Amino acid sequence: MDKNTKKEISNRMDKIVSLCKRRGFIFQSSEIYGGFGSCYDFGPLGVEMKNNIKKVWWEEMTKFHDNIVGLDAAILMSPKVWQASGHLTAGFADELVECKSCHIRFRKDELEKIEDNTEKSIAKKMAREMRCPNCNGELTKPRKFNLMMKTFVGPVEDEAAATYLRAETCQGIYMNFKNVLQSMRLKIPFGIAQIGKAFRNEITPKDFIYRMREFEQMEMQWFCNPQDADKFFDYWLEQRLSWYYRLGIDKKNLKTYEVPKKELAHYAKKAVDILYKFPFGWKEIEGIHNRGDWDLSNHSKNSGEDLGYLEEAGKDKYFPYIIETSVGADRSLFAFLCEAYQEVEGGRTKTTESTKETEVILRLHKALAPIKVAILPLVKNNEEITKKAKEVYQLLKKDFVCQYDEAGSIGRRYRRQDEIGTYLCLTIDFDTIKDDTITVRNRDTMKQERIKIKDIASLLKEKL
Ligand code: ATP
Repeated sequence: MDKNTKKEISNRMDKIVSLCKRRGFIFQSSEIYGGFGSCYDFGPLGVEMKNNIKKVWWEEMTKFHDNIVGLDAAILMSPKVWQASGHLTAGFADELVECKSCHIRFRKDELEKIEDNTEKSIAKKMAREMRCPNCNGELTKPRKFNLMMKTFVGPVEDEAAATYLRAETCQGIYMNFKNVLQSMRLKIPFGIAQIGKAFRNEITPKDFIYRMREFEQMEMQWFCNPQDADKFFDYWLEQRLSWYYRLGIDKKNLKTYEVPKKELAHYAKKAVDILYKFPFGWKEIEGIHNRGDWDLSNHSKNSGEDLGYLEEAGKDKYFPYIIETSVGADRSLFAFLCEAYQEVEGGRTKTTESTKETEVILRLHKALAPIKVAILPLVKNNEEITKKAKEVYQLLKKDFVCQYDEAGSIGRRYRRQDEIGTYLCLTIDFDTIKDDTITVRNRDTMKQERIKIKDIASLLKEKL
């Protein structure tokens, strides 16, 4: 990669990161104490956007697909779960190498996977020769590094009280397979969806919120007859890709990568990653896995509880196969932000005080936009106008996430709203006082239409 391309990438990343902080999407955790390793806080707009992503995913799974139910399992579980699942052994460990001179740490598998063609071979060669890609120093021998975060439950901090923060949400689903099956009187095939926090002691956290130590997963486990597993694998991969397309990700920015057999996780029979083209390269945002009967058979064996499924009286029980779709809420949010971020040099809003500033528009899908509607009185020193605007705000805020803004010129306020992806701006002006109409401006087309205040709620319902 040449210097200019590298600079461009880091420019775009810097701008997105800076927008996130400046406009209240994402802040570094414990910032006033110098920050805390790879943990981030979602600010007022970030939390709205993440909630929107979770809502859209949840509805997609539990409303628009038959036979999927929800679950919210505890983060803390018996350590026996993690022992049985293989997470405490080599199965859930990354190989870490460290440069003896610059002390930068690398995941060995990442060194081998560097995207860019020219760098790929250099990095591979360096990894083979145990040289550092940063400074060419000597690398240490790879050593296994377990990713589970340990904690203690109860007053005594000894091994008997040790457990782990969950590293993936799906184990809670397997723990409840039988409870859900019986209580909901389900039949195979069916799915269980869950959203929740997961924790990994990542050794090379980087790229802003791409790789964090505390993150949120949205996982759906689909239990099916082993003979239908391939069919459902294809079905779910297709469904998940179409979810991203529908939420505005361009097809050219998504691709799939089938994980080679020798690199599969210990539980997986097949895995396809969905990759997004981030400014820093193609990276995984979601994994679709065929986990076979590893989880249920293994937990059955270790717990002594029969997790087999009887399809028909008189037939043998079997362990259902599991097709898993697993995506990070934060990582997908990052992808949606990168996709939506657009700069227009010289600006696209012509105002009287027209500057030649670069304008930023966050073209988020309306379902994901943190603020749906901004209510803007044309001027703030006319009581009739501001009173009307506040009335409109009160009328709409219970149904839509709204922002009332009266500070600065109208052009500046439009730009401020465009920058955070607000889908519609409503302007209350002098005509409003005469005929009770307001202007509705669309973020993407900048088209404006005049609407009666009495019709605004139903119009917004239709548009949003
Ligand atoms: P990676 O190769 O990036 O470490 P993984 O293959 O270990 O990811 P999975 O265990 O399949 O990831 O997790 C499923 C999804 O959870 C990922 O596709 C990603 O969206 C999210 N995820 C995993 N680890 C992290 C993390 N450290 N920070 C943010 N999101 C994560």
